[in-house]
Amino acid sequence: MKLTQHMQVVNNELNIADIPVSRLKEEYGTPLYIYDQKGIKDQAKTFINGFHSKKFTTHIIYASKAFLNLYIAQLINEQGCYLDAVSGGEIYTLLAAGVPGEKIYFHGNNKTESEIILAFEQGIGTFVIDSQTDFYKVEKIAKSLNKEAKVLLRINPGIEASTHKYIQTSRDDSKFGMSSHDEDTVTLVKEMVKSDWLDFAGFHCHIGSQILEERFFFEEADLMLGFCRQMEEETGCQVREINLGGGFGVYYSQADRPFDYEKFLQSYIQVIEAAIDQYGLEHVDTVSIEPGRALINDFGTALYSVGGVKHTLAGKPFVFVDGGMSDNIRPALYQAKYEAALANRMNDEVEGEYRVAGKLCETGDQLVQDAPLPEARIGDLLVIPRVGAYTYTMSSNYNRLGRPALVFVEDGQSYLAVKRESYQDLLRNDYNYKNKED
Ligand SMILES: *Cc1c(COP(=O)(O)O)cnc(C)c1O
Repeated sequence: MKLTQHMQVVNNELNIADIPVSRLKEEYGTPLYIYDQKGIKDQAKTFINGFHSKKFTTHIIYASKAFLNLYIAQLINEQGCYLDAVSGGEIYTLLAAGVPGEKIYFHGNNKTESEIILAFEQGIGTFVIDSQTDFYKVEKIAKSLNKEAKVLLRINPGIEASTHKYIQTSRDDSKFGMSSHDEDTVTLVKEMVKSDWLDFAGFHCHIGSQILEERFFFEEADLMLGFCRQMEEETGCQVREINLGGGFGVYYSQADRPFDYEKFLQSYIQVIEAAIDQYGLEHVDTVSIEPGRALINDFGTALYSVGGVKHTLAGKPFVFVDGGMSDNIRPALYQAKYEAALANRMNDEVEGEYRVAGKLCETGDQLVQDAPLPEARIGDLLVIPRVGAYTYTMSSNYNRLGRPALVFVEDGQSYLAVKRESYQDLLRNDYNYKNKED
């Protein structure tokens, strides 16, 4: 298992931010999600400082669907990032965390009426329009509330980046955005420019997730800026803002070779500056990107207790942990790969490869397929690093498991951010079959 930045092995035990994981288990129990606070702050700084231009304003917009609760929203907001939302619940959480409405970008292919009303009433800064129907809905509500809003239109530049098909978002048959080759897109831009209620500011795109090759982003920037030029000519619109989305890949296992973000961001800015000049886009004053995974994934670690080991007639032995697909569905959903280690026996000799399986009633409830571990025993602590993104936010109560507790750690201190769900929590919205008087 490749350690992350603030992990150390001390006396054969894994420490995170100078705290032995056994101490975190004693204090908070398992399963436990542990977030490295310093790592997140530094990563936000890398993005903010790296994606910076003298020619236009830049925004780093955190894609909050990757991992969202009050604590992380406040931490990320404090670093100077903007944040995005795709639902009323995400907007509500961001506002409750004290994020100003004007720093929120509201995405979504099917924004509901009540979500749009909430967004207008709370002064959300930018709506990202996904389709004609989305535009009509937002405009109608703007009119009825007598409110104005800045809008971007989501475009599909038709890039097929090499990533899993469920996390590719920019093909011509995608559920998201308007195709850059579609005549309807031109018509829609003309309507948006004419709108009395919506202030058309420019375009958005997001080509996919977990993209490990820089060239896709350069290609995307060039295609999008060329498209902006074409739209300015064909529709008379003025493009002031461009949002190029996220998707920057991370390391999960040895197969992944992520690029160096610091170097990449500098090249990316240069490519964007050059394309803005080349296409003569005179009105651009803001360029944004929307990292989710890249800001957060490396800094989350899952800690489980081992409850059993099973040797089967065929295949690698199982080591059973006290969580599983209810807290991390990515292996079941995307065949995602992870590494693992026994946190209390980091230097013990490896005995062989294990499959790490959860306690839920699905054969697919397996978190790691090939973890080289020492001979595992009941009571060991098992860690899976780099689970910061798209785990807790996708968690469920399947089999009525409560969601794990979630702590942040920095410099030997731990801070509870989300408490473990109790049995009572599981019943909080349930009613009895018959409304008995007694
Ligand atoms: C999910 C998403 C992102 C973030 O993607 P990552 O792969 O986590 O960086 C950015 N923008 C939009 C519109 C998204 O849907």
